[in-house]
Amino acid sequence: MTQIGIAAVQGAVREHERVLAALGARTSLVRRKEDLDGLDGLVLPGGESTAIGMLLEEYGIADVLRKGEIPVFGTCAGMILLAKEIEESSQPRLGLMDITVRRNAFGRQRESFEEEISVPAIQGGPLHAVFIRAPYVTSVGRDVEVLGTVDGKIVLCRQGRMLAGSFHPELTDDRRLHRYFLEEVVGERARLA
Ligand code: GLN
Repeated sequence: MTQIGIAAVQGAVREHERVLAALGARTSLVRRKEDLDGLDGLVLPGGESTAIGMLLEEYGIADVLRKGEIPVFGTCAGMILLAKEIEESSQPRLGLMDITVRRNAFGRQRESFEEEISVPAIQGGPLHAVFIRAPYVTSVGRDVEVLGTVDGKIVLCRQGRMLAGSFHPELTDDRRLHRYFLEEVVGERARLA
């Protein structure tokens, strides 16, 4: 069975657990670096990226993740932490994806909104996406695959084993993005029921 950890230092943890369990994965919470042992993948949830980043450093989790061996799905603050570049910020980060992000990028008028986004890599029509003080990606390196945009802004992208989304897929009933992470990124299709 696929074992997926959820970084549980701060932020939206339980909802990811619920979705992953519904998809047939085994889940565990990651609070110390030892909790990373044996994981097939990790979800880095939304929350406050500065706080999460500092705690990941402090607990030694960041150093292990930086080796790039564990596939990571970063949502919202998690996307910020995966980025190599964060505009106007020197906050701690994992830097595992060759992307530049802008925090709270949609501005005060769009602090929180919902939108249908078309993601050609995922079958079954547009994804319903919930954005909360969301970042977006302002530039990507050559190895980054852009999977989804809103108003021309990149909100979903992938680089190898790393998947990053601006929005909160755990807050809808649509499990397709988590399924995509499990099947296509973690690549454990055969072991999922
Ligand atoms: N605005 C937050 C940050 O910059 C991210 C918001 C979220 O994860 N919902 O860290």
